[in-house]
Amino acid sequence: MSKNFTIALLPGDGIGPEVIHEAVKVLRVLEENQGLKLTLDYLSVGGAAYEKEGHPLPENTLDMAQKADSVLLGAVGGPKWEKIDFSLRPERALLGLRSNLNLYANLRPAKIFPALVNASSLKRELVENLDILVVRELTGGIYFGEPRGVETLADGTRKGFNTLVYTEEEIKRIGRVAFEVARKRSKKVVSVDKANVLEVTGLWREVMTELHKEYPDVALDHMYVDNCAMQLIRAPKQFDVIVTTNMFGDILSDEASMLTGSIGMLPSASLGRGTAMYEPIHGSAPDIAGKGLANPLATILSIGMMFKYSFDQEKMSIKIESAVESVLNQGFRTRDIMSEGMIEVSTQEMGDEVIAELEKQLI
Ligand code: NAD
Repeated sequence: MSKNFTIALLPGDGIGPEVIHEAVKVLRVLEENQGLKLTLDYLSVGGAAYEKEGHPLPENTLDMAQKADSVLLGAVGGPKWEKIDFSLRPERALLGLRSNLNLYANLRPAKIFPALVNASSLKRELVENLDILVVRELTGGIYFGEPRGVETLADGTRKGFNTLVYTEEEIKRIGRVAFEVARKRSKKVVSVDKANVLEVTGLWREVMTELHKEYPDVALDHMYVDNCAMQLIRAPKQFDVIVTTNMFGDILSDEASMLTGSIGMLPSASLGRGTAMYEPIHGSAPDIAGKGLANPLATILSIGMMFKYSFDQEKMSIKIESAVESVLNQGFRTRDIMSEGMIEVSTQEMGDEVIAELEKQLI
């Protein structure tokens, strides 16, 4: 198979460029040691692109991203752009990328590294060996539904509205992704909805149940989203694959991330039929940007997912994960995962430690 890959790099805002910088160091090590040829195209996105080109997702960025074999995004957004029109906010670039690349499936693993069990907000016995995969629908639901907006009513008061909409085909498409990945894991899917209140998620439940007939080897349970939020804190290990709508998935996957210790540890993959996009699940963290405090591991682990899902090189993904695990076992910690007796390192130092480990593994 081809070993030449073009990767579109979209650093974005806040800590985005810092974590992408560390990820690029890892990509270069893989390139040197594995006979790969990686073409890395740096493209502007988010607030940085708005400043430079007047739009958070310039045409050239979208065009190059579509042509690339894979996209790696840092993060977008920040207080500087909170007051500008919604259509030009940095976060709109994410929606634009997801819809234009047709990235309908967002895979968000929440896996705990043994060395970080104590960084979790839950008790050790509840999270030890935790390994959940949230499969979030990404191009439909309330984040995209029309009509949307804010209107002024006849009496001068305002009304805001969004629309939650899913077609049967959209539900089936994401359901298939969940059942397929569950087949490679422990064959258990929990589909999360609010079927008792929202008709559209009543349809979601019906379609998931019908689709399940094609996957008799996988167990399917349904759960209301409020119960799921509670169960994730009460007994998270009952879950393996969770499949849900765009907004529920957004919230539940952040909740699941805290079980693992830090939002700075979790990668994600957004898959469609063409180019896939990989990104840490965290945002641009303006509170720590430029201070060398950002944890780059979520972005580095996102490269692992890229090698697994886009380049069909799962072995490389396992190596990246085990390099990260080994660095954590040696006690290296960025501030967000720091605990007593550990060695605090900066963003760059953490990147260097991962590279040193990876180089050992690649020999
Ligand atoms: P955030 O994820 O940026 O930060 C939440 C908290 O986690 C902060 O205290 C931050 O310091 C910490 N944190 C996040 N990533 C970290 C890392 N790698 N290492 C160490 N600590 C980390 O979420 P927020 O504060 O709600 O949002 C900030 C901005 O990011 C907003 O403009 C928001 O719209 C944007 N955002 C972007 C994305 C994205 O680009 N995919 C996702 C979420 C939020």
